[in-house]
Amino acid sequence: MSDEKKPEFGAPYQGAREELAIWKRRALEAEAKVREQDQIIDRLGAALNEDNGPTFMGEPVLRSGPCNHNYHLGECTKCGAISPTE
Ligand SMILES: [Zn+2]
Repeated sequence: MSDEKKPEFGAPYQGAREELAIWKRRALEAEAKVREQDQIIDRLGAALNEDNGPTFMGEPVLRSGPCNHNYHLGECTKCGAISPTE
């Protein structure tokens, strides 16, 4: 016996059931949207990594041009190269 054939529950119950179904659908839609956005963010991140290469400490690794070495204690503070004059 389906719920629709139980008159004792009446209109308010039916209305609440419909409202619940609407909210449930909205929740599922929101969930799907979040998943979609997660995938978009993942794709953007992957594309960004492809463009910028690997990152170091959250900063893009400098690949273009030679390092303008800044030696400190015989080691470049930017790229870690050992000072040739040391
Ligand atoms: Zn350097």
